[in-house]
Amino acid sequence: MIYLDSNATTQVHPRVIEAMMPFLTGHWHNPSSGYRAGREVKMAVERAREQIADWIGAKPAEIVFTGCGTESNNMAIKALAREIGRKHSKVLVSAIEHSAVLRPTDAMAAVGFEVEKVGVDSDGRLDLDGFADALNPECPGFASIMWANNETGVVQPIVEASQLAKEAGWFFHTDAIQAVGKVPVRVDEVPVDYLSISGHKFHAPKGVGALYIREGAPFEPMTRGGGQEGGRRSGTENVPYIVGLGEAAALMQEEARNGGLARVEALRDRLENALQTGLNETPDRVECNGSREHRTGNVAHVSIKGKVASELLPKLDAAGIQCSAGSACMTGKNQPSHVQKAMGYSDERAFSSLRISLSIMTTEAEVDEAVRRIIDVVKG
Ligand code: PLP
Repeated sequence: MIYLDSNATTQVHPRVIEAMMPFLTGHWHNPSSGYRAGREVKMAVERAREQIADWIGAKPAEIVFTGCGTESNNMAIKALAREIGRKHSKVLVSAIEHSAVLRPTDAMAAVGFEVEKVGVDSDGRLDLDGFADALNPECPGFASIMWANNETGVVQPIVEASQLAKEAGWFFHTDAIQAVGKVPVRVDEVPVDYLSISGHKFHAPKGVGALYIREGAPFEPMTRGGGQEGGRRSGTENVPYIVGLGEAAALMQEEARNGGLARVEALRDRLENALQTGLNETPDRVECNGSREHRTGNVAHVSIKGKVASELLPKLDAAGIQCSAGSACMTGKNQPSHVQKAMGYSDERAFSSLRISLSIMTTEAEVDEAVRRIIDVVKG
């Protein structure tokens, strides 16, 4: 099997497993316990917090560990709903957000908040003018705009959007779940108030994430209890997974420094070019979707004219290629992707799209073999 669906999830890296193992075996104590074994476990949790903070340019105290990216998004959005609810103000999201932002903000709309979806251009990038127009400084609310899209990999103008929001006195959350480990994400350079991370997108296990909360930003916890995580998420910490998350962050930081991300990008380009050469017996049969300039280096999002992705995918699976049509959460839903519809694509183009996503664990041999098999399946 050749795994090319890294935006759905990634394999846990052996180095991450090695870091986690001691905390599933000998060091299983409660980090809140006062004796030495507990204190040692607590130190491992705090070390992981420093690793995440160092990676994104935050202070360790600004990092809260969560159970997943969906929880991180919901925690930020619900905390902000309570904050702005008191002033009856507005919520802005982009039309291409993940369901983990769209559903909680839909729930806010259902109870009377004014929620506006800002569109994107045909490159899949936020309409900054529309966003600026919707930011009413008289009535500050909050905006949630993703850093990079999970389907197309298109990187959003987060610096500009967050600056506009802060100038208008708004709070700003970003779902950076598909950006971290792929493009530089630094909260000391970009004025975001809240930022969500999910471990399984960068070689940590599923079921662990983090929320960055800028010092001084309002926050209402969803869980109250023993006061863990500085009272922001009570519940005994998932120590092995938190340690894994920290190790994966350190790994990704090293990869960025050592050219690992550039290698992934070169592999993605090789795959895209080979598919175009191999399948373009009719001109423009393979179209690359979204901005070529502003995108993460690991995603090839292509439409293959005359083919339907839902029919290709089982054949690709049988040929030993695992990839997808869009987000994993949309599998089995017979609707064109809301992301591509927002980009103004026809249903036909949207239904013929494949998302092929690589990671630092993808090899050149896998890419070359995958191209051969994909071309065979498409032509077959
Ligand atoms: N946001 C984006 C952009 C995602 O790609 C995902 C995962 O697919 C999520 C949120 C949800 O993260 P998790 O699977 O950790 O709940």
